Formats: sequence, structure tokens, C-alpha cells
Amino acid sequence: KEKTLGFIKPDAVKRNIVGEILAVLESERLDIIELKMMRFERREAEAFYIEHASQPFFEDLIAFMISGKIVAFVIEGENAIVRYKELMGATDPREALEGTLRKLFALSEDENSVHGSDSISAANREIAQIFR
Ligand code: ATP
Repeated sequence: KEKTLGFIKPDAVKRNIVGEILAVLESERLDIIELKMMRFERREAEAFYIEHASQPFFEDLIAFMISGKIVAFVIEGENAIVRYKELMGATDPREALEGTLRKLFALSEDENSVHGSDSISAANREIAQIFR
């Protein structure tokens, strides 16, 4: 079965909405098979987001992702990657559809509350890094 990796990002953990976000995942019948609270070291965050290393927002992204605790999880199921990405909504909450996690919870394009793997190869790499 397909697997995808998700995070609840520091902006959401700080606002005490971990439970609300997990409740949405459960109500959408996304099957969480791994779950942990953690905090990224700078090196780990840089390795995780290596594909964005050349982006202008990279430094801010790393600073944000190490600014507090995150909750990491693995979802398993048919079309898990696309189903969870659709539930997250657009990166920029102003563009996110009604009912998506980012429409409901995100503060901005960077403080956007959740992460999800983009592809099968990204999911495999990200799961191996976070849940090794
Ligand atoms: P994620 O990879 O976290 O699921 P995504 O696939 O929607 O998000 P990416 O384009 O992969 O978005 O960017 C990764 C993360 O970098 C975004 O979730 C966001 O936190 C940050 N980011 C992306 N674009 C911008 C931007 N233009 N300005 C600030 N931060 C950004």
C-alpha cells in the first residue's frame, strides 16, 4: 500500500491545534500508522529540504522548521500521497480550498501548518529519514 509522510509544523504545534489536525485526518479516514513529536536539528532540516536549497525562502524555511516542535506521521492507504495532499490544500492558504487543512489552520505561505510528501520517491526518502 502507498505511504506518505506528513508533519504538523511548529506554527500549529505552538497554537495547540495538533489534536484538531489529527481529528481532521481521522475523520477523512486517512490511516495513520506512525506518529511522533520531535524537534529538528538544523542539519536534519537542511537534509530534509535539500531540494529547496537554492530557493530564496530556504533560510527562512529552515529557521521556521527548527523554531519549535513538530509532529511527524506516516499515512498508509490507496492513493495516500494525493489524498493527503488534497486535504492539505495549496501551499499559500489564500489559494487553499474550503475545508482543507491550510484553509482551516495556516497563517501564511511559510507558516502553513502541515507538510506532505510530493511523490512516491520523496515519501520513501522522507519516511526513511524521519522513521528510521
Ligand atoms: P510541503 O513540501 O511542506 O508539503 P508544498 O509542497 O506545498 O509544502 P513546497 O513548494 O514543497 O510546498 O515548499 C516547501 C515549504 O516551503 C512550504 O510548505 C512552505 O512552508 C515553504 N515555502 C514554499 N514557498 C514559499 C514562499 N514563496 N515563501 C515562503 N515559504 C515558502
